[in-house]
Amino acid sequence: MTIKVGISACLVGQKVRYDGGHKRSAFCDKELRRHIELVPFCPEVGIGLGTPRPTIRLEGEVENPQAVIPKTGANVTQQLVDFAIQRNEQFKQLSGYVLCAKSPSCGMERVKVYTPGENANQKDGMGIFARQLQRMQPALPLEEDGRLNDPLLRENFVLRVFVYAAWKAIPQPYTTADIQAFHAAQKFTLLAHNQPVYRRLGRELAATSPMTQEFAIYYIETLMAALAKPASRKNHTNVLQHIQGFFSDELDGVERQELSDLIMQYHDGVVPLMSPLTLVRHYLRKHPSDYLQQQSYLQPYPDDLKLRYGL
Ligand code: SF4
Repeated sequence: MTIKVGISACLVGQKVRYDGGHKRSAFCDKELRRHIELVPFCPEVGIGLGTPRPTIRLEGEVENPQAVIPKTGANVTQQLVDFAIQRNEQFKQLSGYVLCAKSPSCGMERVKVYTPGENANQKDGMGIFARQLQRMQPALPLEEDGRLNDPLLRENFVLRVFVYAAWKAIPQPYTTADIQAFHAAQKFTLLAHNQPVYRRLGRELAATSPMTQEFAIYYIETLMAALAKPASRKNHTNVLQHIQGFFSDELDGVERQELSDLIMQYHDGVVPLMSPLTLVRHYLRKHPSDYLQQQSYLQPYPDDLKLRYGL
């Protein structure tokens, strides 16, 4: 299965910025690209603005700003919205989107919104294209290039991309059994992020038969929103101890103690998450368990992205 992630074209080195430059993200263009097909879009070039070009800025209300070119007075808001709407069929194929920070078109948060005709601004806006993308695809994981430098946010984004890709691989029309199997596979991942949501969705899922498209949409939007907040060290510790419970009868005293110690060392910040997980996976090879092997938590994305070494 090829996983596709949309990305602001300037982040993959395309010279499409207003000044004729790019803003290549090495993580996206090199590391992520090894496992994911990146699909670049540049809304400003897409609506016919050249490169280089006069700058655009957001003006007016923070919640409903206009994209204006101060040099010419042109308002390109509707063109940017239409650019996104016309590509919605392509966006439905995506499992995530990396946006360029601060852009009046692509910025996800804290974009400057100016008072018309003045230099006063509030840094609370969202780019016009980014907002339309989010409206049309509310479950789609979004992240900005700058935030991907934070190990916690980077791991969280890639995790969400792989979970969403697994969801998109479920054949339609959805059945209750298919979504229950998906929910079971995401159990420990969701428990590490939000226990109440895991339990609530499980109850609601059990009470929904036959499956409806409305529930399926509600389910995935709720699950993706819960995953958007990175898992805490405390929750990871609880999940690891829960997983350890499955091995208790299989391990000898020394092995049990070794795993307990490593989990507590992770809890205390002495070793990264990868350490106890590597030992769990080692024991799982010695004592195979179908139930644990289907858990996305134990192998959420390719190891060579090295995302859990920084957690
Ligand atoms: S931030 Fe968006 S609109 Fe601006 S150059 Fe990059 S892709 Fe194009």
